[in-house]
Amino acid sequence: TWKYLQEQFREPLSKVSFDTWIQSANLVRLTNNSVTIEVPSNLHKEYWKNNLSTRVVEYLYEFLGREVSPLFVTTEEQAVHEEQKEETQSINAFDTQHVSSTLNSKYTFDTFVIGKGNQMAHAAALVVAEEPGTIYNPLFFYGGVGLGKTHLMHAIGHQLLQINPNAKIKYVSSENFANDFINSIQNRTQEKFRQQYRNVDLLLVDDIQFFADKEGTQEEFFHTFNALYDDRKQIVLTSDRLPNEIPKLQERLVSRFAWGLSVDITPPDLETRIAILRKKANAEGLEIPNDTLSYIAGQIDSNIRELEGALVRVQAYSAIQRNDITTSLAADALKSMVKHDSKQNVSIATIQQKVSKYYQISLADLKGKKRVRQIVLPRQIAMYLSRELTSTSLPKIGKEFGGKDHTTVIHAHEKIKKVLNNETDSELRDQIDEIKKSL
Ligand code: ADP
Ligand code: MG
Repeated sequence: TWKYLQEQFREPLSKVSFDTWIQSANLVRLTNNSVTIEVPSNLHKEYWKNNLSTRVVEYLYEFLGREVSPLFVTTEEQAVHEEQKEETQSINAFDTQHVSSTLNSKYTFDTFVIGKGNQMAHAAALVVAEEPGTIYNPLFFYGGVGLGKTHLMHAIGHQLLQINPNAKIKYVSSENFANDFINSIQNRTQEKFRQQYRNVDLLLVDDIQFFADKEGTQEEFFHTFNALYDDRKQIVLTSDRLPNEIPKLQERLVSRFAWGLSVDITPPDLETRIAILRKKANAEGLEIPNDTLSYIAGQIDSNIRELEGALVRVQAYSAIQRNDITTSLAADALKSMVKHDSKQNVSIATIQQKVSKYYQISLADLKGKKRVRQIVLPRQIAMYLSRELTSTSLPKIGKEFGGKDHTTVIHAHEKIKKVLNNETDSELRDQIDEIKKSL
């Protein structure tokens, strides 16, 4: 099971994240309804809890066909636990440490850095925290992973609590909402479920793209939504895409979500990334020279979670080497993820030229919008190579391909990577190798 789970994480994570978080972890126990994952430190534990736990649920559901809730323990805690177990033979002591569904104390407005990509979202979040239920209801954040949706959501909760300490707030991932709902049916505790979700001032539901395919849950959420909305209670939702792009999301939900305000969050620009790193470094009490911060921020342009991962890695590296953090130490620490030297040498234009020549299609078609297979595949290959071999950011690559969205580039990259990982398709691999050689 662990092998499987590990492998699932390989693709969505960068190599450095994978090495840092996944390789260092271990599955220590799997029961009917829980899975316990051991990690080296509290820092890892926090990261797993905040960033990887939903995926654990998701992946294990696919693998085991049942929902298990993840528990994270540090090696130290696990050792203590083992001892206790020997003493008392009790295994229940641990089950109280369920992933908390309350607000994460680190996700506040204070710790949130405002930049171009998120300033609208930030402003809307503030308004909603101060005037819940009246202006933007529901408030809907959408955008790629690791861009701060969950953070902002929690920040609204914290802020509301500050203004009104008695406010009732419920934060839940869409999966947990679904779980709670299903359990309430099984245990005949629907009344309690409704109390729990409808008797609140602020309901935060994270990652509602996972409502896709869950008919019954959508039905229940529809009623929850209506009850809260009619009561003028604030609802905040997030998703990785717009409601109408979520497959199998009921039309009536899509239209309700559009009643309020939808704001997207886009990847941070370099300046914002530097500011975020600086803030995190300060919070951790790390001394990092400015040029080193710029260096790290220049290397990691995908999302903020990766940026944090990079910082942790640099921090760990400096601790192990007992050296101060400098740009060259950072470069060493991030070597595995930072593009090789060859990256600087080849340009996207060259890649496009070689690919179009190899497949005998025109450059215009390669960068165009035609969706026939003979053109789409080379286009995806060219995007893949641009991502792999240059250090150009995703949006810029998209631009070079006739102004395509960065998600198109991600999609192309992932698709080709998948095919390449698939042992049987060696033909495509050979073709790509040949193109690479010509570059
Ligand atoms: P999402 O929910 O969009 O996938 P998260 O809210 O989980 O992203 O953010 C990922 C990580 O990046 C979190 O640790 C969060 O605190 C941090 N983060 C995101 N945006 C910002 C920001 N603007 N300023 C500071 N930290 C941020
Ligand atoms: Mg999130």
